[in-house]
Amino acid sequence: MDVTLAREWMRAAAGAIAADADLLTRLDAAIGDGDHGVNLNRGFTAVVAALEKTPPDTVADVLIKAGTTLMSRVGGASGPIYGSALRAAGKALPPTAEVQPADLAAALHAGLEAVRKLGGAAPGDKTMVDAYGPAADAFEQAVAGGAGLTGAAAAAARAAAAGAGATTPMQARKGRASYLGERSIGHQDPGATSTALIFQALADVS
Ligand code: ADP
Ligand code: MG
Repeated sequence: MDVTLAREWMRAAAGAIAADADLLTRLDAAIGDGDHGVNLNRGFTAVVAALEKTPPDTVADVLIKAGTTLMSRVGGASGPIYGSALRAAGKALPPTAEVQPADLAAALHAGLEAVRKLGGAAPGDKTMVDAYGPAADAFEQAVAGGAGLTGAAAAAARAAAAGAGATTPMQARKGRASYLGERSIGHQDPGATSTALIFQALADVS
């Protein structure tokens, strides 16, 4: 992945979130407070603007700038969580204009670790971790099996979508949805859904 592709990823993610903002908001209205689509759309619009204003020279700096922007522009749980994930992923990368698929695999895991540290969610708690975890694992396994970025990103996108779908029968144990107890069962988690969009965006540009 070079720096141009990293920027295209963030732009594609912003486009996907804008296109599905209503869906994300509807999902969050069912088991949260209905702000997830609006929150993320505002945040990723700001990310695209920040990257255009001063284009970074490295993939790492694209992710760090995106993360910093999300942290400052998105309220709620998801802004700090996505922000710290992107920042941790960026900081785990070598400071070069181009990075290898194995570097990205390690960076995705560093981002996941940041999510777990900040939010304390485990797999099965019905959060974005249930999409992000399988996606990071699928990416790493694909790279270990010899896949390039295109194949690894496609595998990650499939795993994230499956992981998001698998949150529907779960009972939420973290975040706002956990206040609903058993009533959170039967709805797909909004954060896992937006995570699947972000991985699909990576597959689309790769
Ligand atoms: P809020 O819940 O503060 O309104 P958002 O609606 O923007 O924030 O985001 C909700 C999403 O954030 C959830 O669907 C879930 O995926 C994710 N989330 C909430 N709490 C956590 C947590 N502790 N760890 C990981 N993800 C979380
Ligand atoms: Mg919300």
